[in-house]
Amino acid sequence: MDGEVFIGHHCPACGSTIGVAAGVGGPLKCPGCGGPMQAASGGPPTRVLANVTCKGCGSRFGMISVMGSDEAKCPSCGVSLV
Ligand SMILES: [Zn+2]
Ligand SMILES: [Zn+2]
Repeated sequence: MDGEVFIGHHCPACGSTIGVAAGVGGPLKCPGCGGPMQAASGGPPTRVLANVTCKGCGSRFGMISVMGSDEAKCPSCGVSLV
């Protein structure tokens, strides 16, 4: 597979920020306005957790992104995933 994974890129035009996106060839396009995305340097930091299991409800997440300084929390039950 020739895909590339983009993490934490943001769009300078509309302010959209992505957690994780896969692109195949060419630059990543903004899901909001279709403009070019930029690397994370100017946007809020995003952390990505892979293959985590919630200690509260047992939900499994293959990949979950966390914006800025937010704590990684289970979207189902709110228990911290770290
Ligand atoms: Zn945009
Ligand atoms: Zn949970």
